[in-house]
Amino acid sequence: MSPAVLRNFIGGAWTEAAGTDSVPVTNPATGETIAIHPMSAGDAVDAAVRAAEAAFWDWWMTPVPTRSAMMFRYRHLVWDARDELAAIIVEENGKTLAEAKGEMLRALQYIEHASAVTETMKGAVTENVGSGVDIEFIREPLGPFAIIAPFNFPAMIPLYFTWAVATGNPVVIKPSEHCPLTTIRLIELAAEAGFPPGVVNMVLGGKGIVEGLANHPDVAGLSFVGSSPVAEIVYKLVTSNAKRCQAQGGSKNHLVVTDSAVVDRCLPNIVSSMLGNSSQRCFAGSNLVVYDSIYDDFMERFLAEVRRFKLGNGMDPATTMGPVISPQSQRRLEAAVDTALEEGGELLLDGRGVEVDEYPGGNWMAPTIVTGRPGMEVFDRELFGPVRAVQRVSGLDEAISVVNASRYGHTAAIYTEHGGVAREFRQRAQVGQVGINIGTPAPIAFYAVGGRKKSFFGSLRGRANDAVDFYTDKKVVVSTWHVDTSQETGADPAFEGST
Ligand code: NAD
Repeated sequence: MSPAVLRNFIGGAWTEAAGTDSVPVTNPATGETIAIHPMSAGDAVDAAVRAAEAAFWDWWMTPVPTRSAMMFRYRHLVWDARDELAAIIVEENGKTLAEAKGEMLRALQYIEHASAVTETMKGAVTENVGSGVDIEFIREPLGPFAIIAPFNFPAMIPLYFTWAVATGNPVVIKPSEHCPLTTIRLIELAAEAGFPPGVVNMVLGGKGIVEGLANHPDVAGLSFVGSSPVAEIVYKLVTSNAKRCQAQGGSKNHLVVTDSAVVDRCLPNIVSSMLGNSSQRCFAGSNLVVYDSIYDDFMERFLAEVRRFKLGNGMDPATTMGPVISPQSQRRLEAAVDTALEEGGELLLDGRGVEVDEYPGGNWMAPTIVTGRPGMEVFDRELFGPVRAVQRVSGLDEAISVVNASRYGHTAAIYTEHGGVAREFRQRAQVGQVGINIGTPAPIAFYAVGGRKKSFFGSLRGRANDAVDFYTDKKVVVSTWHVDTSQETGADPAFEGST
């Protein structure tokens, strides 16, 4: 059977994406084409934004508790479908089934937080800011928002839309070309939950669709997650059109292992931070920065642990590392190793050229560890795959200067049993998220996420209460009323005794 051609979802209907081009969606473990992803033409953007704009007023006027109840219903449907969704994630993204199930649990928390809109939509009032003058702010939705997602969390990131919708805005979602199938299933479930036509729309495509949304006069704002170079371009384009934008970019996260780290306890955490999800996550530890005094012993144990990964199809329960997303990504990672060696790096573990017997068509790259330092590509540039660097440092000052030399500022973590060392690191690390004995300091849905420097463009972070601020405007109303006491009639009998 030939693979299905995917369709857009516009105004409550699945519609053929008229475009001139298409790309295959492939299973990264098998190389098999599982769907055809059309690259929609620009008129799909206009159709989706018009559908969203048409739905806006009624959706805004839908009582907040009703919108909240619909989010609860959606959460219930996604919960029931979580195993099915996890299997779709494995098929199109390649991560292991355990990792995909973990993603689904996190994704459900997004919907849960967004459901709290009855609480988060509250405004505030101050009486008598002047004589007889009151001031208040009320939260208003702004109109259609665009949500642009990367490939690595095909459920979690598209679900950023839940905060936009819960607060009263319609959305147009553009999933990654690599992983659209999870989003499509999530949108089918949104339709089943009862979101009115036009409230949730999806357009398939690439750069042209993002630019179309960024430039469309009726789009109120855009939330982007992807690599830093694209985040920067998109942020500049969207804000030049006087729209709201938050653009989450890439990362180069440092894990500092100090001489007081309890290695037995922290080693599994370090290894999973650096290599879980085939290192294809923005929170993955990228550079291991180890105190000189423990370097040799620690590295021996670290490499022994890393060698235990078993590559394979994510659906196989024995697999602990899936493939990387594409053959291009695999080649890019292999080339990064060559460059590291040319720049003087030492190869401590070589994962190039591995084969997985049953899956000759997969994009295989096993864990690869090289020595590095700031100034080397392998240490400075985001690689987004299991090529990781390691550096010795003399102590805390040097470790912090290595962290802060990075052009990225997403996360940094320290492993220590000294509170003072942890506190100093927490204060001086110029990053948006710090881990203390935790290598993947990813905020759960109830905290906002965002980095510094090239890792984040914008001010209001993604998720949680920052998302509520991003998707709403705090309209200020200042009021005073004339009280004509000569017209007073006394107490309203309708209210007498009512309490
Ligand atoms: P990507 O930048 O290649 O693509 C992201 C999205 O942008 C896709 O939907 C893609 O179609 C679109 N796009 C690509 N090129 C474009 C262009 N020139 N103009 C406009 N749109 C364009 O990223 P990816 O490879 O899909 O995802 C991996 C990246 O995402 C990594 O850098 C990772 O660190 C980052 N990421 C960041 C976070 C975070 O919270 N900061 C979370 C997840 C992933």
